[in-house]
Amino acid sequence: MKKSSLEQELSSSTPMNVDVDQPKGFHDPLLSCLLLITKLENTPCSETSLIAGLPLVDEKLTPELFVRASKRAGLNAKVVEKPLNNIPDIVLPATLILKRNRAVILLSYDLEQGKAQILESKTGIEKVVALDALAQAYAGYAIYTRPAYHLDDDVASEVHSINSNKDHWFWSVMRSSWRIYRDVLLSAFFISIFAVATPLFVMNVYDRVVPNNAIETLWVLAIGVLIVYVFDAILKGLRGYFIEVAGKKSDILLSSFLFERVLGSRYSERPASVGAFTSQFKEFDTVRNFYTTSTIAAFVDMPFVIVFIVLIFYIGGLLAVVPFISLLLILGYGLMMRGSIQHAVEQTFASGAQKNATLVESMVGLETVKTLGAEGAVQRLWEQSVGHLSHWSQKMRMYTLSVNIFSGTVQQVANVVIVILGVYLISEREMTMGALIASVMLTSRALAPIAQVAGLLVTYDQTKTALEALNSLVEKTQERDPKKPFIKRPSFSGSIQFKNVTFAYPGEEYNVLNDVAFAINPGERVGLIGRIGSGKSTIHKLILGLYKPDSGSILIDGIDSQQIDPADLRRHIGYMPQEVTLFAGSVKSNIMYGSPHVEDEDILRASELSGVKEFVDHHPLGFDRAVGERGQALSGGQRQSVGMARAMLHDVPMYLYDEPTSGMDNTTETIVTGRLAQAVKGKTLILVTHKASLLAMVDRLIVLDSGKIIADGAKGPVLEALQKGQLRVS
Ligand code: ATP
Ligand code: MG
Repeated sequence: MKKSSLEQELSSSTPMNVDVDQPKGFHDPLLSCLLLITKLENTPCSETSLIAGLPLVDEKLTPELFVRASKRAGLNAKVVEKPLNNIPDIVLPATLILKRNRAVILLSYDLEQGKAQILESKTGIEKVVALDALAQAYAGYAIYTRPAYHLDDDVASEVHSINSNKDHWFWSVMRSSWRIYRDVLLSAFFISIFAVATPLFVMNVYDRVVPNNAIETLWVLAIGVLIVYVFDAILKGLRGYFIEVAGKKSDILLSSFLFERVLGSRYSERPASVGAFTSQFKEFDTVRNFYTTSTIAAFVDMPFVIVFIVLIFYIGGLLAVVPFISLLLILGYGLMMRGSIQHAVEQTFASGAQKNATLVESMVGLETVKTLGAEGAVQRLWEQSVGHLSHWSQKMRMYTLSVNIFSGTVQQVANVVIVILGVYLISEREMTMGALIASVMLTSRALAPIAQVAGLLVTYDQTKTALEALNSLVEKTQERDPKKPFIKRPSFSGSIQFKNVTFAYPGEEYNVLNDVAFAINPGERVGLIGRIGSGKSTIHKLILGLYKPDSGSILIDGIDSQQIDPADLRRHIGYMPQEVTLFAGSVKSNIMYGSPHVEDEDILRASELSGVKEFVDHHPLGFDRAVGERGQALSGGQRQSVGMARAMLHDVPMYLYDEPTSGMDNTTETIVTGRLAQAVKGKTLILVTHKASLLAMVDRLIVLDSGKIIADGAKGPVLEALQKGQLRVS
């Protein structure tokens, strides 16, 4: 009865226009709640900026993603499992997760009156409902949100470490599993203690059982040692399991963090070589191996060598000197080789990246390689990098081998020396037979982890090098800095202004744009023309915020574009690049790439405008036709149409077209241009073109030459001046 009343209340309310631009019929309850919370906390954000780049599940936020998204609004969120009436007042407003994938915001509640004040996620309407009914619908989980500066230091530093680089990203994630690693350490301690059981057992059998024929004692000792073995096995299993659990947790956290950083970094900071970059990124596996496998167990075992040596001292007295000296010798040799190993590891790493770079670049450009007959040159490049790689990995293996041989020999010699010393001690009656045997066994056990020192040195250096490489990825400047919130822009009218913009591509000396200034009003249609390499496409990229001007500023709707969330900005620009990149998938999935909510009618409209419809209609699979990797199964002109359809998909205030019809035949071009001109009526348009026929679409012309504006004005006069040769073009 009570349940249905809340159900009714939640479903009966008429939708009100909240500032949530989700498409009709689509509702993401958690996202709506987060948007409402950001308003309540006075940090209003746009939907796009909250979810840009997040791996939505079924296009919706999950509780975990809610936590990530809220960081963008300067909020810290925490998912808690709590009965409704245990939620403290101080955390309100909080998001309640309801059954059947719904959510509401709890504003306040009164236990005595049995009432709760909530905000509906779908409509944003404030309501008072019966607490019982709410509790019935409640799924048991709530999400608390707090402005980040309210946090106590501990949590704040954790948030900080993920968002910035102040606290190291890797170690802070590892630290989050410190309890598990503490247990691992504890179990390692016990495992070491247990390892003493066998030598002690043997010693007692030799010294007490055999001389007295004490069969009962033998059995007591045997049962004792067997029990120890059982515990030992359990502990080893647990230790392995703990390491795996901690590893899995860190693995998921770290790899998603890394990829988010890579995708979220500024475009201008993108890696110069994709191949080298992927190999660098893959090195994450090395890092992962370090903390997920038994390597870490070996590291943990190291300190317990001392425990064994102390024990040998207790049993065999002076004999302990032998393993101690062996330990120093092996460590000394390992440290001596350390520099060489480190160098070899770094070289292997670099040549691995080079090899991958060659592979990726030649595969991507295979067609060109073949048509230019450059197979030989590529083969040579490949062989060079493979040669370099194998040279250094061989060196690395040889160094490792030498450490292994050294430590193996030292161990063997140590055993012999112990036996020799032991015989002297026994003859002097300072030691028993059993003690000697136990000492030999303990020495082997003590030196066992040390024998792995070579492997550990290599792993350590590999991990260190890989971490450094990953560090450089993490340190890349991010587009979205949580400490510098963007100005919220739900909509744009479409004015674009360049104020004395000077720009050089990162790492380049010369300025591609020099003191460029123009102002385009909303709805103005401008043609941007100029010779090749004059900086036309660069202007588009600057407007899209892919690069930042070195000096001057770019204003969109009068606001410096650097203060606008790039996701918001790009969502309001229909951009068609000079070279369209498609992704493996269907024509349809390519058109709606990045816009999963788009309605079929919009896809159809965009396809008609761009000429996509004509060519998919001729194919049996229609829109489901596969385009191949990077769109290779389509013709150049077809790829361009798909690119245009992408740009036309949304009704946006600004359009940037870069040579939209360069790959099209005259008929298609005429049809498409006519439709395009209709579609962009009343919108701001910056059209880059080399074709005079396209200029029919624009009213104003800006002529660019070597990064400078040499003419800007109404189309007619500018064209006239160009024809008369009045404009000096370098
Ligand atoms: P086109 O008509 O050939 O498309 P454009 O006017 O669009 O030419 P831009 O692509 O803006 O020319 O390039 C302007 C200049 O910037 C060129 O000299 C080019 O070499 C340089 N340039 C372009 N992209 C980069 C880049 N990613 N890194 C370095 N320099 C670049
Ligand atoms: Mg260009």
